[in-house]
Amino acid sequence: MPGRLRLSAAQLETIIEHARANQPEEACGILAGDADGRVRQVFAMENAEHSRTFYMMDSREQFQVFDQIEREGLDLLAIFHSHPHSEAYPSAHDRELAYYPDSLYLIISLMNAKPDYHAFRIVDGAVAEAEIVIEDDVVPA
Ligand SMILES: [Zn+2]
Repeated sequence: MPGRLRLSAAQLETIIEHARANQPEEACGILAGDADGRVRQVFAMENAEHSRTFYMMDSREQFQVFDQIEREGLDLLAIFHSHPHSEAYPSAHDRELAYYPDSLYLIISLMNAKPDYHAFRIVDGAVAEAEIVIEDDVVPA
């Protein structure tokens, strides 16, 4: 389980664009990649709840994405979602529904003009911040 998330600037932009496109609702998705934490693929997904304050991945879409990650030999690195109206920190709901202790949770806040983002590991409701490393665009988004 990598302690940090390694993203290209283009991948981060893809995530922020997905978050912006879904405003005022929360957006969500999955980041898959290598065991060393480098993201190879960004899956922008639907928030099945279409809520402004929480998200739930569509179970069928989630199954398809997990299947694709496995077929491509990638790891689930992070689950991301946006907070259109609050800061980039896990809500009580986020902590409660963090079912993947091996995954990081990336949260993008759009409450200010400049998007803010932080990654966390959430295990049994306990939150620890993880490092995000933005690397050169060597990997296509
Ligand atoms: Zn949240």
